[in-house]
Amino acid sequence: MSLIKFFSTNGHLDRVDFKGALLAGQAPDKGLYMPEMFPSLSPETIRNFPQMSYHQIAYQVIKPYLGDLVEESALEDMLKDAYSYEVPLERVYDGKYLLRLDRGPTCSFKDFAARLMGRLMQYFLKEEGRSMIILTATSGDTGSAVAHAFYGLENIKVIVLFPEREVTERQRRQMTTLGENIYPLAVTGKFDDCQALVKQAFVDPELKGLELSSANSINVGRLLPQAVYYFYAHSRVAPGGEEVVFSVPSGNFGDLMGGLIALKMGLPVKKFVAATNENDEFPRFMQTGVYEPIRPSKNCISNAMNVGHPSNLARLFSLYGGQMDETGQVARQPDLSAMREEIYAVSISDEETRQTIREAYSQYKVLLEPHGAVGWAGLVRYLDEFGDWSPAVSLETADPAKFPDEIVRLTGVNPSLPPAMASLDEKEEHYLEMDGSYASLKNYLKGFF
Ligand SMILES: *Cc1c(COP(=O)(O)O)cnc(C)c1O
Repeated sequence: MSLIKFFSTNGHLDRVDFKGALLAGQAPDKGLYMPEMFPSLSPETIRNFPQMSYHQIAYQVIKPYLGDLVEESALEDMLKDAYSYEVPLERVYDGKYLLRLDRGPTCSFKDFAARLMGRLMQYFLKEEGRSMIILTATSGDTGSAVAHAFYGLENIKVIVLFPEREVTERQRRQMTTLGENIYPLAVTGKFDDCQALVKQAFVDPELKGLELSSANSINVGRLLPQAVYYFYAHSRVAPGGEEVVFSVPSGNFGDLMGGLIALKMGLPVKKFVAATNENDEFPRFMQTGVYEPIRPSKNCISNAMNVGHPSNLARLFSLYGGQMDETGQVARQPDLSAMREEIYAVSISDEETRQTIREAYSQYKVLLEPHGAVGWAGLVRYLDEFGDWSPAVSLETADPAKFPDEIVRLTGVNPSLPPAMASLDEKEEHYLEMDGSYASLKNYLKGFF
């Protein structure tokens, strides 16, 4: 088996292997790394998944991208250790399920990606005797997932930028109560501002000596683990191999990219529903073929999806033969009809999100939080339009206890705090506040030399 190489969506010609792409984060030309090919899993392999555990399925999906870069037993151990929690499928009604991706240590689906990426980075850095600073921007959940995944590691420091006013108190506390090698920065601004600051730091020649790497969903180490739970969910709801509809609440589109990679690797998928909140730049592109970022992004209650220009669209376009640079300029249109064949895009307003949370609770006694509600509402729209007969899975990407105020108001239920978040409200916080200028960030980063 020849080792899969990764190319940059901006067209730079150098190819790197998985290790190179993981440690660099972003390609030198500011593009995102994409695998040159998608290894396909045979139908026989996929037919065995219903008998396999989550980490065993993860091994089959991820191993082909790593080749011999990681020893087999080391990879098995990492996967077992990273995926030590439950991944429940909750039945809502006939053949319609929620995939609960909220049982990890920070109670959002970001744990799936961050925990494996953290372990892989540590493996490669140890091998080379290197150390590194992870610089990452978060709209709410990435920061805590990454912070927990790297917490306490000696050769890695983590600096997290979050928009001061756009994360809930519990989301903030998950980042700010760790200390040690974790450095949270509360930035005056929005998620897009945080992301822009991070991107600028990466290409700043004066910071080259810092060994900065990203842990955003732009890192391939985040992307590949997100293909696994689609295979897992499929194996549980369609063990006979039928096609499944997946609805994916989307912000930066890393989660959906994971699904599309699963599809390219042979997973039987009927349709992906890409459900956004009122930041509807992607659904509008799917309708009109014209891409316009939303600047500034809108503040919706599904705060981890308040993204006005999703980084992963560069990958999505590349997957369908197009090319988009990091600013959202489209150099080559993707094959829109192929995209429409595989993806149904829909935007859900805050009002509909709230209505969905109320109705899911009153009709089915299912407690959704705002992100999962966007996904579920998207699925309901799709089913209304195309019929209700395929098995369908809607991703619930966070625990309702992360958004207690909204849930109490809408359902009267105070979501119980999962064990992973117990005592969070009492712990001491440590973080710095920072204005949104690049000069301030750069000054701060220079302190790490
Ligand atoms: C990050 C996040 C999303 C969006 O995922 P993308 O990969 O950015 O599209 C959805 N829900 C929750 C809870 C998140 O934290």
